[in-house]
Amino acid sequence: MRIISFFAFVLFTLVATSAGELSQIQRTRLLAAYPDHLQRIEGSVLIWRDGTRMPLDDGGGEKVFEDWLNAPDIEDTLSVTYPRGDASPHAKDIDPGRARNEAFFNKVYGDCRNREVAKNLVSIVWLPSKKGQRLAFNKINGAAAALEAVSRDLDQLPARFDRYLFPSGGTYNCRVIAGTSRLSAHSHAIAIDIALRRTDYWRQAKPGKDGTYAYKNKIPMEIVRIFEKHGFIWGGKWHHYDTMHFEYRPELLGNDR
Ligand SMILES: [Zn+2]
Repeated sequence: MRIISFFAFVLFTLVATSAGELSQIQRTRLLAAYPDHLQRIEGSVLIWRDGTRMPLDDGGGEKVFEDWLNAPDIEDTLSVTYPRGDASPHAKDIDPGRARNEAFFNKVYGDCRNREVAKNLVSIVWLPSKKGQRLAFNKINGAAAALEAVSRDLDQLPARFDRYLFPSGGTYNCRVIAGTSRLSAHSHAIAIDIALRRTDYWRQAKPGKDGTYAYKNKIPMEIVRIFEKHGFIWGGKWHHYDTMHFEYRPELLGNDR
């Protein structure tokens, strides 16, 4: 009996260790956020509906910030909790949702460098009564439908919010992020920049002696809450802030919206 419980303990420990750092809630949210693509998680392997198996964990252990940002495994992309609502701590190098696993997003939304994203684009009307600007967005996984829902809600806001909402800085753009070799979320057509003229961006700020950036933002929280309600995260919650940037990342917000 004691031997059996010892082996049960060893087995449990192995499973727990190989399962990496993801909590049950994070796993459930990941699967629920990509229902057409993901089937299940076995140990530390993500199993897609087409049978593809991807490791959640690259075995590299905990990464320093630059490695976390430049070469995250799937688990790393979920490791920093995104704070919904008004909470916005902006601690040094805390950028919830800024790390993206390129293989994962290329597989869901297409790789724009192979012209795979262009065929997934649909045109939505941004702020139908305020502006009526046409924007291209990825139809896969409900991303364009989510942006349309955001647009409908933002369209109801009083006119004093208009200057934060347009002209939009754009959506789809097959490009790497300025100063990096990483594909931008705009390359997958799942990101929108609002309010070109009202934005604050960490690259335009000077870091302090300790390498931190003093936070700046003009975007009202009423706008942020509407995006979050429909599965978008906000670049204004990153220490390396980009306040006009919103991207569709339902896995970070959960399906309880
Ligand atoms: Zn952007």
